[in-house]
Amino acid sequence: MSRIFNFSAGPAVLPGAVLEQVRADIPSWRGTGMSVMEVSHRGKDFDEIARKAEQDVRELLGISDDYAVLFLQGGATLQFAMVPLNLSQSGQTVDYVQTGSWSKKAIAEAARFCAMNVAADSAESSFTTIPPVDTWRVSSDAAYLHYTPNETIGGVEFHFIPETGDVPLVADMSSTILSRPIDVSRFGLIYAGAQKNIGPAGITLVIVRKDLVGRARVDTPTLLTYEAFAESGSMTNTPPTFAWYVAGLVFAHLKAEGGLEAMAAINERKAAKLYAAIDESSFYSNPVDPACRSWMNVPFVLADPALDAGFLAKADAAGLKNLKGHRSVGGMRASIYNAMPEEGVDALLEFMVEFERTNS
Ligand SMILES: *Cc1c(COP(=O)(O)O)cnc(C)c1O
Repeated sequence: MSRIFNFSAGPAVLPGAVLEQVRADIPSWRGTGMSVMEVSHRGKDFDEIARKAEQDVRELLGISDDYAVLFLQGGATLQFAMVPLNLSQSGQTVDYVQTGSWSKKAIAEAARFCAMNVAADSAESSFTTIPPVDTWRVSSDAAYLHYTPNETIGGVEFHFIPETGDVPLVADMSSTILSRPIDVSRFGLIYAGAQKNIGPAGITLVIVRKDLVGRARVDTPTLLTYEAFAESGSMTNTPPTFAWYVAGLVFAHLKAEGGLEAMAAINERKAAKLYAAIDESSFYSNPVDPACRSWMNVPFVLADPALDAGFLAKADAAGLKNLKGHRSVGGMRASIYNAMPEEGVDALLEFMVEFERTNS
């Protein structure tokens, strides 16, 4: 297989071993003479891999029986609406922390359904910092507090979990889930679109404390309630079977690779190398406060933006793909999720050194 290094922010690189397994399974999955895409989600074979996927992700993240694990559709963006519709009543106050583009979108959507309190906001620093927790203006009666542990576009990541007492903590972990161990018991609800660290687009993981299930507003459509999916094993209607199957392969792969402790060690090393090289050079820079730099998404700019196009074209020709920064911030962004091998980061570093040498 001829593979390049894909630094896309999402849909993103998948582990090569998983893709090989998918390829082998396509014509005749489990000897059925059919692909997994062609079988009933209610059949024994599919049910088995669906349950195993849940069990494996429970094991990876250490999720207790106090939590339901749901496989939904609609992406992380639908959760921007499902969270307020399920966890708050009409007009109730909710607290949100704004640290970048994705939390901003989550806030805009929830503001349609709730009394919005933006408890902290780093817009003033152009989203390069996390406001110190002792400055957050939290409400005493919030239905929940929502934050975005990793801002995929700005490359800002929380390396701590905020303490919210009895107020349920809700996290959009789309671009950081499975990158390291997390203490799930600190959260009321965690959600993540799959296409960064879990699997193909089209499936969304929701981990929700069971006492928060069954509280949706009365007029919420059935398919937008957590309750319906919790009661049906995420099979209220036909689930995205293929995406679920691939996510299951990724979970099994991560377990075989040593689980999330092993992932964390590699991810921390990959990110540290890249930031060190950027910081040591005056040719490249990263604007994010070193205390909250992302392990998963590393944005960087060239001192001379006129060189951006040349950098991207040469990188592309060298097999280093999708390094263009988000249109809202420009420059470059290297997304280095679990499935980006360390050799990919090394190849990028080598390229960056060489590009600097020949262009400065
Ligand atoms: C990608 C992303 C989203 C949007 O996900 P969709 O699945 O496209 O809805 C939301 N939040 C974060 C943090 C993301 O990285």
